[in-house]
Amino acid sequence: MNAHDPSTSRGNWARWFGLGGSRSDEDESAAGHPGAGPAASETPSDRRRRQILDDLTRFLDTHRLPVTAETLGLAHDIVTGADPPLVRLVTERVASGAPLTLEWLEQSAALREATDGAQGVHTLARSLERAIAQFAQTATRARTAASGYNKALAAHVDEMGASDSCEVPCSSITTLTTIAREMLRRTRDIEREMNRSERETQTLQQNLEDARREAEIDHLTGLPNRRAFEAVFAEEFEEAQAGRDALCVAFCDIDRFKRINDTHGHEAGDRVLRTVAQALAELSNDRCHVARHGGEEFVVLLRGSNLKEACAILDDAREALSLRRLVNRVTNTPFGRISFSAGVADAHAYADRREALRAADEALFRAKLSGRNRVMAAGLDDWAGFRVVPAAPPGDDGEP
Ligand code: GH3
Ligand code: MG
Ligand code: MG
Repeated sequence: MNAHDPSTSRGNWARWFGLGGSRSDEDESAAGHPGAGPAASETPSDRRRRQILDDLTRFLDTHRLPVTAETLGLAHDIVTGADPPLVRLVTERVASGAPLTLEWLEQSAALREATDGAQGVHTLARSLERAIAQFAQTATRARTAASGYNKALAAHVDEMGASDSCEVPCSSITTLTTIAREMLRRTRDIEREMNRSERETQTLQQNLEDARREAEIDHLTGLPNRRAFEAVFAEEFEEAQAGRDALCVAFCDIDRFKRINDTHGHEAGDRVLRTVAQALAELSNDRCHVARHGGEEFVVLLRGSNLKEACAILDDAREALSLRRLVNRVTNTPFGRISFSAGVADAHAYADRREALRAADEALFRAKLSGRNRVMAAGLDDWAGFRVVPAAPPGDDGEP
């Protein structure tokens, strides 16, 4: 692998992290190493070890980070790619041109340590609260100090005014100078503290925003997750009610998915899940939201489509998927037909959105009972507007 080649992942991240000068293994042996050239007997693991050390040094150097146990640990996880979420955050940070500071790195590590997205948001929100409280404390200290010096100055000026002499004594000038100097020193300290707090707060706000976005994504499929869906549904439901715009909600559930896991293993099951997610994601646009609701269930929100139109849109997606013949690329064995069933409800037919969701779920249940691989509309029990898929055609067209 050539580390200079931007098409290689190592080449890419090395460049983002300011390791653009990273040498390929071949280059490295030719260029040697300062002070101690690689021995002829160097094993691949020696070479890898040396490469990591070089990358660590270059990473810490490029970003002018201090050499501490913490930064070494983090740098190790970054340069070796051992911590993909942290690598992603660092890559985005460097790509944005923003400085990669110790403060930022520590905040991002807090994000990484969080067990899930929600926890990450919670941790960052707490840090932000602490930073704001610190900011408020500094501001209070600044006010108290300013008022203290004002009082001291005023007292001194009063004292000078009360004196009969027209001459200002040397001792008064010395005291005034001392107060002014002290005031300046404190003001500078406070200014520095304020600047640091401001930078810290900005970093935290940015991290919080990133974490919030992260917390709304399902990492297996890349689709918005249930939390994100709930928020969009609440908003769309309200807007649609106000404008009387059509709004339908659908539940889709992969048919006999447990069998896929049982036959091909969980990892293959994950790949199938991603394939179905991609197929549904093709429906999404500014009027159609697709999300993973959990497990092998997806939700689709269709704005501007009436019940029949929404069913037709889902039925087309269902049919297209069920006609594909997916093959397990690891074992080269066919998965057989992959299909989903769906239940669709007209959101306007229900008093609140939870009832609409429940109705869509009930319609999905009927679709399962009726033989699966079909779309059913809530409240339209005997509506036979949809076809049942024909027998599978031969041939394979996909490799999840
Ligand atoms: P039905 O047609 O009635 O929906 O049958 P089913 O087998 O799809 O439904 P069931 O509820 O019995 O099984 C769902 C399975 O989905 C069980 C669970 O292990 C699997 N599953 C849920 N989430 C994931 C996931 O993220 N990855 C994988 N590989 N499997 C998952
Ligand atoms: Mg299910
Ligand atoms: Mg299922």
